[in-house]
Amino acid sequence: MVKDPLRDHSMKMKICPRCKEYTLKDSCPLCNILAVNPHPPKYSPEDRYGKYRRLMKKESEFV
Ligand SMILES: [Zn+2]
Repeated sequence: MVKDPLRDHSMKMKICPRCKEYTLKDSCPLCNILAVNPHPPKYSPEDRYGKYRRLMKKESEFV
């Protein structure tokens, strides 16, 4: 009996930054390195500045 395993594990799932394999463990069993959370934080000021920088760069390219 499967009860929506995708949704059930989505919060616990981590992804290996090297082979991009999802794992439920803290580290990738294949690469033996630390797996990271695939979901970025809801609010990231760093990302917002990155978007702003890209916008500025894009505009400067047209000048
Ligand atoms: Zn891996």
